[in-house]
Amino acid sequence: MEKITQLDTFRVMAERVGRFSAQGKRFLIPEMNPMNSHLLAGVFQSYGTPAEVMETYTGLDIGKKYTSGKECFPCVVTLGDILYFMEKEKERLGENFHPENYMYFMPETDGPCRFGMYNKLHRIILDSLPGLDKVQITSLNSEDAYDLQGLVPTDKVQGFRKAGFLSVVVGDILDRLLWRIRPYEKSQGITDAFIMDARNRMSKSFAKHSSTGNTGSIMSDLEEIVKQAKDLMDPAIPRKPLIGVVGEIYVRTHVRSNQDTIRVLEKYGAEAVNASIGEWINYTTYDQVREAKVALGLHLKTRQFKEIKKDLRKYLKFSLTLLYQYMQQRKVYRMVRNYIDIIKDHKIGSLDRMLKKNNAFSFEVGTEACLSISSALVLARHGYNGVVNIFPFTCMPSNLTASIAKPLMRKLNVPYIDVSYDGSSQPGREAALRTFMYQASQHFKTHGRHK
Ligand code: SF4
Repeated sequence: MEKITQLDTFRVMAERVGRFSAQGKRFLIPEMNPMNSHLLAGVFQSYGTPAEVMETYTGLDIGKKYTSGKECFPCVVTLGDILYFMEKEKERLGENFHPENYMYFMPETDGPCRFGMYNKLHRIILDSLPGLDKVQITSLNSEDAYDLQGLVPTDKVQGFRKAGFLSVVVGDILDRLLWRIRPYEKSQGITDAFIMDARNRMSKSFAKHSSTGNTGSIMSDLEEIVKQAKDLMDPAIPRKPLIGVVGEIYVRTHVRSNQDTIRVLEKYGAEAVNASIGEWINYTTYDQVREAKVALGLHLKTRQFKEIKKDLRKYLKFSLTLLYQYMQQRKVYRMVRNYIDIIKDHKIGSLDRMLKKNNAFSFEVGTEACLSISSALVLARHGYNGVVNIFPFTCMPSNLTASIAKPLMRKLNVPYIDVSYDGSSQPGREAALRTFMYQASQHFKTHGRHK
């Protein structure tokens, strides 16, 4: 590795990571949960970008080789993904390997935690490896609710955004079908196989229809899947304790990183539901509305009329976006729930209100802690039999969640457990989850469960 100067680091922050056009590049998406990245790749393909999802976790050792152990675990996993992919491409193509043909997609936030630094660190490491400085890194930022300007041609932004959001909702639906059916499946393994096939079918559907705006065909393909999915369940198996999963978005949804916690919970008798990806997207939009309201209040007090105009414009733009997202989500969930009773997603405003009512935390602080703490409260009050907080070891917002949610759950008498991951295996973890499930079963026997 070449020596990295401070000047190089500043240059990376300012110029070398941003929203670059994806046209003509092989667009590499890291896999988070097993659904959404693949559906998003379909949307990009529909708009003419040859997008693909990289194999994940196989390159973990390479990621570890270039990091110190102090970085967030998702940063290490995704670094391993891109370096492993490049290594394999180099092997496969030999002299015909041209790093400038690739674009690596790594979104970001502006803090307060470290997600905004992943792509910068990845940039610095790629720059230090021969030839890989030519691999472009493109990004979207949660601070403008993932505005696509620059990444996609301007005239296509609206259509892309709509299809992209639909792909998030459909990915959530496929996950929820998996978690609803697998604990009650007629024979072992049929649900996993079915859902993986369904994901591939939906990815093709997004690739075919996104750019034409034909969401009706995407919905029909999903409906077909849901009808078939219903038949995988054995109606004779009685309902099981319901467990809600909250926590840091990457590790709680990345099955390899969390060592398939949901399957372990199911092994000990659970039906589990993870927080959705749509929740995060809606949260980033909701937060823009909230910020615009705060700024408007301040500027009205100080009579800054130019700023007031800007605030109003921002408020209106993001309020309408949020409304659209909720409507879209409601439409898809309603269609699916005609056939199978998956759990609905909650609105961010209800989480905000829950936090205020309990005086437990604040949306002003931001990060995922405000979502995880409020969700844990909502789940506990809505008849879930237990709550699991999954996160990367050393994750700042998740440790906040752990310290605040745990005493709250104790007060509400709802079983709760924190599980952190860093790629190592802890022999006592499964025993802890089994004990948690015993408590959840007792809660279920006494209180019943959310329908
Ligand atoms: S949420 Fe946790 S894991 Fe993610 S960037 Fe922040 S501190 Fe790191």
